[in-house]
Amino acid sequence: MLHSIEPKEHGPHGQEMAKAVSTCVHCGFCLAACPTYQQLGQEVDSPRGRIVLMKEVLEGSMTVEDALPHVDACLGCLACEPACPSGVPYRDLISPFRAQAEQVRKRSLLNRFQRLLTQQTLPYPQRFRLAAKTGRLAKAFAGLLPASLRVMLDLLPDRLPQQQSWKAFYPAKDQTGESARAKVALLTGCAQSVLDPDINTATIQVLNLCGVDVVIPQQQGCCGALSWHVGNLKQAQIFARQNLDAFPSDVDAIVTNAAGCGSGMDEYPLILKGTADEERAKTFSERVCDVSVLLSRIGELPPVPDSGRKQTIAYHDACHLANAQGVRSQPRSLLSMIPGATVAEVADAHLCCGSAGTYNVDQPEIAHQLGEDKTKKLLAANPDVIATGNIGCMNQLKNHLKNQSSNVPVLHTMQILRDAYLAN
Ligand code: SF4
Ligand code: SF4
Repeated sequence: MLHSIEPKEHGPHGQEMAKAVSTCVHCGFCLAACPTYQQLGQEVDSPRGRIVLMKEVLEGSMTVEDALPHVDACLGCLACEPACPSGVPYRDLISPFRAQAEQVRKRSLLNRFQRLLTQQTLPYPQRFRLAAKTGRLAKAFAGLLPASLRVMLDLLPDRLPQQQSWKAFYPAKDQTGESARAKVALLTGCAQSVLDPDINTATIQVLNLCGVDVVIPQQQGCCGALSWHVGNLKQAQIFARQNLDAFPSDVDAIVTNAAGCGSGMDEYPLILKGTADEERAKTFSERVCDVSVLLSRIGELPPVPDSGRKQTIAYHDACHLANAQGVRSQPRSLLSMIPGATVAEVADAHLCCGSAGTYNVDQPEIAHQLGEDKTKKLLAANPDVIATGNIGCMNQLKNHLKNQSSNVPVLHTMQILRDAYLAN
């Protein structure tokens, strides 16, 4: 697309944003893949429409305020990227644009409070645990609160699991009498470690059973994705630098088990673009991979014992695993290793469930519709269990399954695999 953007006027990400705009040929192939275009039916709520709006703001012919309602409605799900024949790197445009827009936009007092609450609690496990407990008590007074705060309370689980912590090192189980097949460092995450700490325990157990040593860097922090995707560049940079320092270099990979965290760490070079840490961020992000990818790389895995149980697993593609990291086949292959398991295909697997970081707080109506549609499609596969690789999706699906009076459990791929390994 022709444009007159002056990259130098738009800070360290100016070049990336201008390049993303110029790569778009306006063909419209991305429209059918975009969940918000499907929901709202307007060009301005499609990838192509948003690219035009952001281009006009960057050129100076449109105000940020005019573009923001449609940019805010973008899930950041990146379903538009694999659908685009020209290879538009949409992620290089949307997050930097949001960071730039944040400098000038005006927010209401309530909106600022809501944003402060999510950004100062979610990335910090201790604070988030305390806030979640307080929030549960506040549910009794929900009727007195503004609608946007009620939405946040509705998303809190009825009970929090027992707090867990992880020691610094978990050696591989001795399967063969030989040394470990790999040594990895695991990101334990922030919200996930509070909402479902068993995901980390299961991940460590599976890795150990498959002959992998696991290091847990004790000084690690939030991956920064939640901050980056809502335009808080400064906070994202602080978290990125904390992790660059915390993760050791003598491991074969930096492993994540939450899709959003993996894609956030993949974007460290963009987050730290133009800073003294840019090169360090490139080396770091090249070593980041999802746990399912690591397991697919290390060769044949120990066989899963046959429990004699038949089960249908509906696998939900988390957007930040499937679209952002291109990881679709590896989790399915791992689940297919379980004797008696059938991994069911789900209609419209590419469509987001509506969780998308803090999207279900910021855009509750669209998020609700997407969550309802997604759970209906998953249930149509008649599953015994739903598997996915992202804590945000798990929460969204659990809430909507409850609304639909379904008791089908939602588990992380690693939890299902661990349970199968340890079944006998
Ligand atoms: S498919 Fe790609 S090139 Fe075509 S309109 Fe969408 S973003 Fe632009
Ligand atoms: S990131 Fe998702 S919601 Fe946003 S334009 Fe792309 S497909 Fe649509």
